[in-house]
Amino acid sequence: CGIIGIVGTAPVADRLMESLKRLEYRGYDSAGIATLESSHLVRCRAEGKLRNLETALTQSPLAGHSGIGHTRWATHGKPSVANAHPHATAQVAVVHNGIIENYRELRDELIAEGANFESETDTEVVAHLVTCEMRKGAGPVDAVAAILPRLTGAFALGFLFDGEDDLMIGARKGSPLAIGFGKGEMYLGSDAIALAPFTDTISYLEDGDWAVLNKQGVVIHDAGNKVVSRPVQKTSASA
Ligand code: GLU
Repeated sequence: CGIIGIVGTAPVADRLMESLKRLEYRGYDSAGIATLESSHLVRCRAEGKLRNLETALTQSPLAGHSGIGHTRWATHGKPSVANAHPHATAQVAVVHNGIIENYRELRDELIAEGANFESETDTEVVAHLVTCEMRKGAGPVDAVAAILPRLTGAFALGFLFDGEDDLMIGARKGSPLAIGFGKGEMYLGSDAIALAPFTDTISYLEDGDWAVLNKQGVVIHDAGNKVVSRPVQKTSASA
């Protein structure tokens, strides 16, 4: 039950793993990462301890300078590789902490529209909702803005898009999420501890906020889609 994201300028797989280790204290039953390898979404996921994910990554390493990572504490669907995050379509990969309470009705609606579900999680509806908007012609940012109001429950979300090396989106409602500021890189994380290896300069998103990150910075929107600024703080979490 932790999230990490890097929009970066150097390989991310090892760095995502380093951060996930720092999130182990929260408890988890499975873990995974997604990166953009030659701009294309690739994933590696494993049940159980992070060393299982490490072994899987040794066998098939993931390149890429932007990526997202997740430790899962299952609420909907047993701990398994198929239910581990990131959940993805050809267009988008999603990591999620919390619960999407109205996932059943969203899932039924998406299946009726032709979506193929690969997991038993509540989370996967988020990937398909975004994909649906993008198929209708929306860009990634508009697609996420359109679907967030449809989600009920508690969530921290991280989105990574196929073909978009310089873009990451985060959103929070009821679960914490922080933005980290680096030198030519930006980060998304559940807490300052996860971000400490990379930066001591962070902003906490407020409830209902969603944030669009690229390598140079972040634009934060409130629940009403107004652009807002949040205090930038120095953290004492040690790297
Ligand atoms: N509800 C999601 C799931 O069961 C996320 C759980 C979590 O917070 O790790 O996959």
